[in-house]
Amino acid sequence: MITRFAPSPTGPLHLGHAYSALLAHDMARDGTFLLRIEDIDQTRARPEWEAQIYDDLRWLGLTWPTPVMRQSDRLAQYHDRLNWMWDNGYVFACTCSRRDVLAAMAAPQEGMLVLTGPDGLIYPGICRPACPQDTPMPTDRALRLWLERALRDLTTPFTFTETGKGPDGETGAISFGADEALASIGDVVLSRRDMGTSYHLSVVLDDAAQGITHIVRGQDLFAATKIHVILQRLLGLPTPIYHHHRLIRDDQGRRLAKRDDARALSKYRAEGASPGDIRQMVGL
Ligand code: GLU
Repeated sequence: MITRFAPSPTGPLHLGHAYSALLAHDMARDGTFLLRIEDIDQTRARPEWEAQIYDDLRWLGLTWPTPVMRQSDRLAQYHDRLNWMWDNGYVFACTCSRRDVLAAMAAPQEGMLVLTGPDGLIYPGICRPACPQDTPMPTDRALRLWLERALRDLTTPFTFTETGKGPDGETGAISFGADEALASIGDVVLSRRDMGTSYHLSVVLDDAAQGITHIVRGQDLFAATKIHVILQRLLGLPTPIYHHHRLIRDDQGRRLAKRDDARALSKYRAEGASPGDIRQMVGL
């Protein structure tokens, strides 16, 4: 079994991260637990947060093989796969601003569905071309998954195995068809103009590159798994087993966020908590 913990170095690790990392580490047992730094958002990633992640995880008693994979080192690989998708007509360049998309959603044409999915507003198709462009892939535009074209070449329903639970208790063999994908996912952005990639594309390529067999992560990412499974099929990659876990909440029942410094691991450390105390706090 190969598991991983994949934090973004954009703030302090809190109790929710500790739970996720400890669970992934414990589940790997005799297998391998890997750490990956998800730092594609270079406007928010900071070296000091990355250093703090290593320090906090070591303090918790976790070990992992080095060198650690960092997404900022893998932009060429992401670009290569996007090029392949472009050449096969599975992505198109999106010329709309967020404002254009919002305006189209605010004044929907007849028959247009206004929905939100795991990636926010479902793109209403306003700048999707009629057919694939016979030009080199542009690098100054967002690139969107051309879901309808992808679905033509894929076998449905899509399936994956969930050994944890989704937010509505979803577990076991999960399957979803083309109609559900079109209605709940749509043409998600696979490459942001400012990044040359996206969370969805990078996470799928990196989990495959690292040979991850079991993905342990919070329930908030359960819905995004559908996007990941479609990308795995399209790119000819294996689908790992998924284990989505409960979220650690604050006293008011809100899920913890990076800005909740009050729950930062470093704060508990400074107050003298032991790694065993942290395990107890998160129910492990
Ligand atoms: N980097 C993501 C985060 O910090 C986790 C991604 C994942 O586990 O798939 O929320």
